[in-house]
Amino acid sequence: MSIPTELLHHIDGKDVPSVSGETFAVADPVGNKEYGRVAAGDKADIELAVAAAKKAFEEGPWPRLSDRERANVLVRIADAIEARSERLAELETFDTGLPVTQAKAQAHRAAENFRYFADVIVGQHEDAFLVGEKQVNYAVRQPAGVAGLITPWNTPFMLETWKLAPSLASGCTVVLKPAEWSPLSASLLPEIMKEAGVPDGVFNLVHGIGEYAGAALVEHPDVPRISFTGESGTGQIIMRTAANNLKEVSMELGGKSPCVVFEDADFDRAVDAAVFGVFSLNGERCTASSRVLVQRGIYDKFVAALAERAKNVRVGLPSDPKTEVGALIHPEHYARVMEYVEIGKTEGRVVAGGGKPEGLPEEGNFLSPTVFADVPPTARVFQEEIFGPVVCVTPFDTEEEGVELANATKYGLAAYVWTANLQRGHRVARAIQSGMVWINSHNVRDLRTPFGGIKASGVGREGGAHSIDFYSDTRAIHVAVGDLKPPRFGA
Ligand code: NAD
Repeated sequence: MSIPTELLHHIDGKDVPSVSGETFAVADPVGNKEYGRVAAGDKADIELAVAAAKKAFEEGPWPRLSDRERANVLVRIADAIEARSERLAELETFDTGLPVTQAKAQAHRAAENFRYFADVIVGQHEDAFLVGEKQVNYAVRQPAGVAGLITPWNTPFMLETWKLAPSLASGCTVVLKPAEWSPLSASLLPEIMKEAGVPDGVFNLVHGIGEYAGAALVEHPDVPRISFTGESGTGQIIMRTAANNLKEVSMELGGKSPCVVFEDADFDRAVDAAVFGVFSLNGERCTASSRVLVQRGIYDKFVAALAERAKNVRVGLPSDPKTEVGALIHPEHYARVMEYVEIGKTEGRVVAGGGKPEGLPEEGNFLSPTVFADVPPTARVFQEEIFGPVVCVTPFDTEEEGVELANATKYGLAAYVWTANLQRGHRVARAIQSGMVWINSHNVRDLRTPFGGIKASGVGREGGAHSIDFYSDTRAIHVAVGDLKPPRFGA
């Protein structure tokens, strides 16, 4: 397997090093060995990238193409991603520790994002209506300008495309700042864009540390939109900075999503979903069902089943197709997750995991899927996002108490409800404070539906028309067509 060892920015159609010449090291999560150096972008690189994107927006063909023409390019981007899906999965697995079978699924989803937004943009309609017989009013959607896209390290490629597809579909030009811990898969984007016929300057990529490259992008006055996915604390900083220029922001932030299981639920499916919900993607998933709330009557049986399954989850090398949980992204993140594991041991009862699995590289960031039972809502492992294969389980008695526990954190991204009583399912789905709720389902989502959170989990929605709206300005135009006489002041 060949791994690029020198990762550069991509500005105005060219691969370039940082203006400062600075680089930073990246390592793989299995060996924790440096595999390459990445151009360390800062204000000067962001200046160049934004200038290129601005020029492409103001003078280039991209925003002036018809929606159909841009859609055709998006379909070619999807084709170029599909053609590289094996390679993308290989790089993502190496870089992030994500199990390779799950990385392949993410690569296909990334291509799907472009196909989907190609359809959305040609299906867009604009409002036109006549007022009386004297004036026509209509609204046009226009691309907002240069969009700044800032993305996290979990499923990095997929989440990058989740912002690239709608921003490009809308006619914006972009500057993407990928996460510093997972820059590898983004390095395929320049060739994908070129192959698909995206003009130079439309897609720009600046690597770098968030506090330098990311912050410079947020501060830049020529970037009217910032779409951010990452931690809630970072989101707060970005919103504050963006306020200086009153720019519009989209925030997809952290979560601590509850999975509420009632006594009448289909037990086996609820166990399957709870296990999948928190251990897939290494538990490094914003919508992870990291708090399982179980009605008292089935609590002990559910905890036992969850523990049994967690012990059998196959933790292994990310590149092994049989692996279900791979290695966590970075030693720093791993240390944080391990700290929570130690805290959890004092706050609840360990019924599975709680340490390093045997037989895997000692230097790798591996953790056995960990289940804490009897965790009170005041516990830190109940309240705080751990972002790893760690779940806490808490009993409840009544529906009201289940909802109360579900709402007892600052987050509100996703929630899962398991019950045979559909009336209750709908009732609870509306009572839980959350941007998204799945009833008797495990995170299956149609791309047309809105994605996002409330409370500390986000501001705004992505998906479908919501994304197109975000990357667009809607302009109302009023035209006199009949004998419309203005009032004659001073006549
Ligand atoms: P992070 O906030 O540390 O970093 C995210 C991105 O922001 C990175 O590219 C980073 O370089 C950049 N950044 C950091 N500081 C910045 C600053 N001051 N100004 C501008 N940019 C800055 O998040 P992470 O650790 O990479 O990702 C994990 C987090 O993302 C978790 O909290 C997870 O729940 C969340 N997440 C949310 C969703 C969602 O859709 N709601 C999806 C995936 C991940």
